Amino acid sequence: MADNWAVCPRCWIEHTKARAEREKELRAAYGKVSAEEYIAMRKDVEKEGEAGIEDTFREEYGIGVIYNGSFHLRYTGKCSTCNLEYKFSYNLDQIPGIKTKPKARGKTK
Ligand SMILES: [Zn+2]
Repeated sequence: MADNWAVCPRCWIEHTKARAEREKELRAAYGKVSAEEYIAMRKDVEKEGEAGIEDTFREEYGIGVIYNGSFHLRYTGKCSTCNLEYKFSYNLDQIPGIKTKPKARGKTK
């Protein structure tokens, strides 16, 4: 099994919405708050943008063929922040071609 940490797609949507909201607030504040206050707000929004989003989506997966000719694919992903979970698996009892006679090796026409 292999594993990986990725950006959670649901958290990404929330992050993007929150960022858009903060930018909207910033635009609305322009000319309505003091210059110092506006600059401080803009710095916060920029800092949030640079921080990005953490990889909170834990993925575990395995793929391959085993000696009996079966093929398997297993995938599980779960977010440690919002608990979004996705599982996928696929099995093939026998890959094509395993019962055909092997071609002689090293022979050229
Ligand atoms: Zn999430």
